[in-house]
Amino acid sequence: MSLDREALREKYRAERERRLRLSGAEQYQQTSGALSAFAEDPHADPSFSRAPERRSAAVLVIGGGMGGLMMGAQLRQAGVDDFLIVDRAGDFGGVWYWNRYPGAGCDTESYIYLPLLEETGYLPKEKYAKSPEIREHLQRIGRHFDLYDRALFQTAVTGLRWDDAQKLWRIETDRGDALTARFVVNATGVMTRPKLPGIPGVERFKGECFHTARWNFDYTGGSTAGGLEKLQDKRVGVIGTGATAVQCIPHLGEWSKELLVFQRTPSAINRRDNRPTDADWAASLESGWQRERMANFTAVVSGDPFDVDLVKDGWTEMIGEVLLAAKREYEAGRKTESPAVLMQRADDASMDKVRRRVDEEIEDAATAEALKPWYGAFCKRGCFHDEFLATFNRPNVRLIDTQGAGVEEITETGVVVAGKAYPLDCLIFATGFAIEGADPGNQGYEVYGRDGLALSAKRRSKWRTLHGYMTRDFPNYLMMSYAQTGQSPNFHHILDEQSRHLAYILSRAQSAGAITLEPEEEAENAWAEEVVRAAKGRTAYLKECTPGYYNAEGAINEHTVLNGPYWKSPTRFFGMTKAWREEDALAGLEIDRPSSAA
Ligand code: NDP
Repeated sequence: MSLDREALREKYRAERERRLRLSGAEQYQQTSGALSAFAEDPHADPSFSRAPERRSAAVLVIGGGMGGLMMGAQLRQAGVDDFLIVDRAGDFGGVWYWNRYPGAGCDTESYIYLPLLEETGYLPKEKYAKSPEIREHLQRIGRHFDLYDRALFQTAVTGLRWDDAQKLWRIETDRGDALTARFVVNATGVMTRPKLPGIPGVERFKGECFHTARWNFDYTGGSTAGGLEKLQDKRVGVIGTGATAVQCIPHLGEWSKELLVFQRTPSAINRRDNRPTDADWAASLESGWQRERMANFTAVVSGDPFDVDLVKDGWTEMIGEVLLAAKREYEAGRKTESPAVLMQRADDASMDKVRRRVDEEIEDAATAEALKPWYGAFCKRGCFHDEFLATFNRPNVRLIDTQGAGVEEITETGVVVAGKAYPLDCLIFATGFAIEGADPGNQGYEVYGRDGLALSAKRRSKWRTLHGYMTRDFPNYLMMSYAQTGQSPNFHHILDEQSRHLAYILSRAQSAGAITLEPEEEAENAWAEEVVRAAKGRTAYLKECTPGYYNAEGAINEHTVLNGPYWKSPTRFFGMTKAWREEDALAGLEIDRPSSAA
């Protein structure tokens, strides 16, 4: 099908224009203060209590999600055993502890997404694992590496302060603990706190109301596997159509008496094609297969060189097709147009395929039109699902398309869109999470470094780090971050690389007898410049995109770029950090040893 490219560009522009909101990321409100009930833990024992602790450790890891677990595993392997892991949840798991909504599962292939499979001797049952299997695996990692006896659960860090006289971190928690640590690793994740639309009335609704990351199964019945039988007499509304909504809406549609889906921007729904793990393939795996597969996936979806696409799924097909468009044309001897033109054409074709799929699946023409995404393939995170679209063919399911404007008000009885009230028994927010670096209150606490400097203030002024992992004036503070580091849609690959890198720094600090480590000013300035340089192409693309968290809700600028990923090839970035470790000089870090202090 030939596309009228100018008309398409104009359509993309028009759709973007009507979604641009002056308030950027501030259009949301945090689940804190009057709205903190939205962040409460529905899974942990509410009667849990313990006496405040006074403990010190060589390393304190904040967060017991995938990052904290992998950090713990790497510390064990590096022989650094004196560490503590603190998490507000009642168990390990992070996002997989919190997100148990019906349909929750990974949409990156489970063989590369679930960490440490070879080390724990486990292989997921399906190509895309469901949330309970992922959570169980994360608990398996906790047991395998003896991390449970290092954990303080149901404990939220409330503040961190560097004690420059003692050269250690003082950590306060909501349980009155007084903890100290020579080193702190922040593993609180990129999307930690649920966020809500900043519209009037969120706290007014009198029916049942929760965020997808705190699903109330007592109210809905059922489980992550579905079976929401208590909704059979309920009128349910869900706000949002991102990756989470796409997974839970088929279950809500199946069980609710009536389901209203309030959409602001349609997602791009690519094919999923889940299937059980192939026994012959499993038997053929050789030592080292998981890291090889992870690196291969990241290479394919980043346009880095590779021989064969091992994962071969919706991600690699969608991203690979666009990134490799020019290479394919040139290899075929058709060197007719510039790489940029060829990529743009492949991007258009990829999104056109997504829009055709909507027409193929949706019976009602107006609903189909409203579900079509009009933006580039890399503007928003793609979704992968085989039942979401067909849910809108059900007679009890209605799409309320807000045409980019969003829900405007919440009342005691329901939701208002374009002046029209929609009464509801239950309202579910599938409105996503505060993003690291972009949203105030993402972590829920402040970090005070040398001379009382607040980390949030440094992030706001001009964020500088050494490779994303450490920042000056915050000695011995290490970050498993998304800002200024190499990226992959497979977040586990990033955490795998990061945890190895940080474990190396920590064990190296231990063997060198270092008291403090922090980036040299020149080194972090140079890296910030490189981050901005590396983002040029990506920034130009994102500026044309419909708003979303990829482009700071349409407000992308140097500040958001510095709080975003390092956009050059992740394969090269991970190669560079590996070479940095092999050089074994801690280059770019200022090291304070007992002798140098004397
Ligand atoms: P998102 O931030 O992706 O989506 C939030 C949704 O809420 C968007 O559709 C947004 O619309 C909508 N929204 C916000 N405000 C309003 C409003 N006032 N009125 C109407 N709609 C509104 O959150 P998700 O929880 O869906 O996903 C977050 C991330 O979590 C994903 O991007 C992914 O990284 C991760 N995830 C991973 C999964 C996995 O398999 N590993 C599964 C699920 C999630 P708009 O688009 O217009 O902003």
